[in-house]
Amino acid sequence: MKRKFLFVCNFKMNTVKKAEYKKALQKDVYNNLVLCPNFCDLKEYSSFKKSNSVMLGAQNVSEYANGAHTGEVSASMLKNAGADFCIVGHSERKQNNYETLSQINLKIKMLIDNNITPIVCTGESVARDEEYAVRFVLSELNEMLKDVDLNKVIVAYEPIWAIGSGKVASVKHIKSVITTVKQYTGISFVLYGGSFNQSNYQDITDIDCVDGALIGGASLKPDVIVQMIQKTDIK
Ligand code: PEP
Repeated sequence: MKRKFLFVCNFKMNTVKKAEYKKALQKDVYNNLVLCPNFCDLKEYSSFKKSNSVMLGAQNVSEYANGAHTGEVSASMLKNAGADFCIVGHSERKQNNYETLSQINLKIKMLIDNNITPIVCTGESVARDEEYAVRFVLSELNEMLKDVDLNKVIVAYEPIWAIGSGKVASVKHIKSVITTVKQYTGISFVLYGGSFNQSNYQDITDIDCVDGALIGGASLKPDVIVQMIQKTDIK
C-alpha cells in the first residue's frame, strides 16, 4: 500500500483569505491537506472539511482545561471549532513565548484527551551533523512525550536553522535523522519542516521515511500548495 504524504500548512499570524484557498482547491478532494489558520479563522476554514475533505489544525493550545487563563484557548474549544490537529512546541513559541518542554507535554496530553492529534515540533538550532541532531531531538522528545501514547502523535522534525531561512536540510540529513528517531522511539509518523517549497518538495517527498511536510511561508500561496500536492503521487 502506498504511504500517505501529509501537507500541513501553518499560516502563523498571517491572514490568508478563505476565498484564495477556495479558488485554488476548487471542488477537488484533498484528504492529505491540513490547513492551520489563526484561531479567529478556524471556524470559517472548517467548511473546507465538507467541501474538499481538507483537515483543520490549530497552531497552539492551552495546557489547562478551562478557568482564569486570559488569552488562552482550550483543546475542547479547538475541537468545537473543527480542529483535527494542533501544532505544539513550535520553535517560535519555545523562543518567543518561553514555552517549556514540560508545558508542551501537558498540552499534548490535553489534545489527546480531546481527540485532537498533536503535531509535536522538534529540531536543533545549530546546523551540525546528523549525530548531533538526533541527540538533540531524542532528548527533547523524551521530555515532551513523557507518558504519552506514541500512536496518537505526529512529530515534525524542523531544524530551526532551516525555518524561514530558505536553507533546506539535505536529503541525507533528513533521511538519517528521521530514520534514527523512528528506530529509537517507535514513533511512526514524522514530518519534515524548514523552507519546504516548490523548488525542493520533489526531493523531500521522495524520501521514504518522511510522512509529510510542515510548511510555513509557502502555505500563504494556495496555488503553490495545490500544485505541489497534485504533482506528488503519494496521496
Ligand atoms: C515552520 O515555521 O514550521 C516552517 C517550516 O516555516 P517555513 O516553511 O517558512 O520554513
